Formats: sequence, C-alpha cells, structure tokens
Amino acid sequence: MEMMTEMDVRTSRLPGFYKLELAERVAVVAEWAGLSEQEAAVLAGGGLSPSQADLMIENALGTYALPLGVAANFLVNDRDYLIPMAVEEPSVLAAVSHAAKVIRAGGGFTAQASSPVMIGQIQVLDVPDVAAATATLMSHRHELLALADSCNPSITRRGGGARDIETRSFPDTPVGPMLVVHLLYDTRDAMGANAVNTAVETMAPRVSELTGGRVNLRILSNLTDRRTATARCTIPAAELAQPGIPGAEVVRLVAEANAFAVADPYRAATHNKGIMNGIDAVCIATGNDWRAIEAGAHAYAARDGRYRALTDWRVDDNGDLSGEITLPLAVGVVGGATKVHPTARVALKILGVESAGELAGVMACVGLAQNLAAIKALATHGIQKGHMRLHARQIALAAGAADGQVQSIADQLVAEGNIRVERARELLGN
Ligand code: NDP
Repeated sequence: MEMMTEMDVRTSRLPGFYKLELAERVAVVAEWAGLSEQEAAVLAGGGLSPSQADLMIENALGTYALPLGVAANFLVNDRDYLIPMAVEEPSVLAAVSHAAKVIRAGGGFTAQASSPVMIGQIQVLDVPDVAAATATLMSHRHELLALADSCNPSITRRGGGARDIETRSFPDTPVGPMLVVHLLYDTRDAMGANAVNTAVETMAPRVSELTGGRVNLRILSNLTDRRTATARCTIPAAELAQPGIPGAEVVRLVAEANAFAVADPYRAATHNKGIMNGIDAVCIATGNDWRAIEAGAHAYAARDGRYRALTDWRVDDNGDLSGEITLPLAVGVVGGATKVHPTARVALKILGVESAGELAGVMACVGLAQNLAAIKALATHGIQKGHMRLHARQIALAAGAADGQVQSIADQLVAEGNIRVERARELLGN
C-alpha cells in the first residue's frame, strides 16, 4: 500500500494500482468512490444471488461471473473517472488505462452526448395511397404525439416524452409497398425500450385509422442515430514516442491504421470490435444492454451503405494526433438491470455519473482510448508481445494451475517464449 499513500484520492491517476493485491485495490476504490462496507463486499465477490437471478430471467439455474476491474487515468471534460469494466479478455483494462494516461497528457478527453432521443417504429402495410397517408399523419402530428405521451406521464414530467413523427416509405418490398412511421421519443436517463415500445403500441391503432393501412410491427429501433455520443482528444506527438520510433512517426502510423479501417470493411470489423471491447465491458459492468449497443454501433458504422471505422485519427496542423469517435449509445442509469443487479449499482457509484448522457460520453471516451491502444500497438511493435504476456496467466489457468502457481507458470512461459497450454501442462507435471 505504500506506493499509494501520496495519492490524491480524487485523481484517477493511480500509479502502482495494478501491483496491489486484489483486496487492496478494493480498499483504494472504496475510498475513492465512498463505498460502504456492504458495497465494497459486493465487489469482493458478492453480486447477484441465485434468488435474484431467478427473479430476473426465466428458467434460471444460477449466475455466471465475469472478472470486474477498473480502468484508471480517465480525465473527461476536466473530471476524473475510474471506469468499471466487466470482461473476460486479458489486456483490455491494461491497454485502455495506458491509452487514457497518454491522452491525459494531452489534456484528456472532451465528450458530449446528444439528447436521449430514441426511435420507435410502426410498420404499416396495405396502405391505399402512401403519399396521402403521409400527409394525413403529418397533419395529425400533435394528436399522435399527445397519444404517445398519454401512456407515460412520468417521463413527460421528467422533461422527456414524444418529440416528433417522421415517415419513411419503401415502395418495393416483397410484401408490397411499406410505410414506416418513426416516433422520436426522449427517454431521459433510461435506455427507454419499455417507454418507447409502450408508446408505439399505443399509437398503432390510430396510425392504422389515419393511413387506412394495416399495422404489423411496433418496436424501438436499435439504430439510435438520434442518440449518439462523441469523444475527442489530441495527443502531443512527443507523448507517443517509443524506443526507436519518434513520436511524429507514431502519429503517422496511427493515422494510416485508421485510414485502413475507413477504407476496408474487413479491417473495420476488427477495428470496431476493439472499440467495443471497452464499451461492452462498461455496459456489462453498469447493467446496460450490450447487445443493443453492439447492434447500434455496427448499424451506424454502415450508415452510408459501406461498413467503416467508427473513429477518425489524423495528424493535426501541429503534427499532433487528433482522435474522434461518434456512435449511438442508448444507455441508461435507471431501468433495466442498472438498479437491479447489485454489482451494476456499485459500478455506477464508482463511475459517479449523474445522467445517461454523461455515461454515454464516458463510454465514447473508453471506446476511443481502447481503439488508440490497439492501433498504436498494431502500428508499432504488434499486439502479441504485450497481449501474450497477459494471456499467459489464462493459459496457466487453462492447464490446471492452482491459484498460487499461476503467476510463476505464466512467468516461465513468457521467459521461454512458449505460451502454450501444452507447455504449461508439462511444467505443472500434468
Ligand atoms: P425500465 O422500463 O426498467 O426503466 C425505465 C423507466 O424508469 C422509465 O420508463 C421510468 O418509469 C423510470 N425512471 C425513473 N427515473 C427515470 C429517469 N430519470 N429518466 C427516465 N426514466 C426514469 O427500462 P428501459 O425502458 O430503459 O428498458 C431497458 C431494458 O429494455 C433493457 O434491459 C433492455 O435489455 C430491454 N429491451 C431492449 C430491447 C431492444 O434493445 N431492442 C427491446 C425490449 C427490451 P416511470 O416513469 O414509471 O417511473
């Protein structure tokens, strides 16, 4: 613990944090975030009980645990954050913390989120005259918005609710012409699936009357392109220098790596997967729906007809590295599992976000940092050296090493440059 004594408890720079024992890390984070003993105990292994799980899903058998950690060094809009992340993959937390430290040297991130406006869709078929139906819907806009608001007055009281109606027409589908009505709906601090789905179900009969058509589906869209978050950072070239590689060259190599993922969908899929390594881990830790976030991110990445990188990294006018990401982030700090899962509640407390927009902004920063870590490594010394060092412990575990043996077996595998389960088994005498 000695190395931590001079630490300012409110900075997320935690030098030596990774070298602490697990219980010591919990103590540091508990102090940092003002966690109660019970909350700290949840981190140390409590979490969801089987009886709680039984109330959350059908056919429950028990629970499934994942490692939970915090990423350090995040400075977003001049505020320090520790980022809780639940993930099974080694090196995600080390990489993102490292990138956040480099970005911090350039003043940290700026982040912003749009209004939390979701889209609810109503599919209308057999419309006799699509143009006339569209005009009728628009002339009844106020009535339809009032109808959408009528089923959830508490969201309206919080300042959210129905915002607008839009229509889209698909004249040539295998099932005939299709009119799609979009309800734009502000869900405030919730992801909002339930409020939006209720609103479109409530509106549907009136939409059917007004259009003379038949309504089929009524459901939110996960392509939440009205609900996005953006993060930006600028890193001085000198901060990126590595042994044998000047900073200016690293800046150029990173920009080239990004251009690869903008040009080529095969690379973009992997590039964006790396971004989601970070974002998904925060989603899971905070009880958010990561499938919804994944669906939105990838659909958005293909929004102009070709799938591409979600990030932009370029050499700026000063020769420094400038990065930006924008993606849909329909996440909540209330609703879903956020307040139900005990670990999600504690994770949200550690993060200390006040609104869904603040959470989305921080998640965009995590995505940007995770991406920088990956492409900087790929564009310089490659990722396997660092990754395999961390992966070695997982290999030792897979080979059957007991807790006390894992580190020494992993060290031996790394020293031999032979990080394989077979070799780990030999070393264990298994
Ligand atoms: P909930 O319905 O659990 O929570 C949202 C509700 O919380 C609001 O309707 C509101 O209800 C209440 N609330 C309290 N405080 C606030 C606040 N400050 N701002 C907004 N609402 C507040 O969850 P969601 O509707 O967010 O749904 C999320 C879940 O839906 C996720 O688990 C997801 O997996 C699931 N889902 C996802 C789908 C998809 O992605 N396609 C489809 C269907 C479900 P009140 O006004 O009554 O207080």
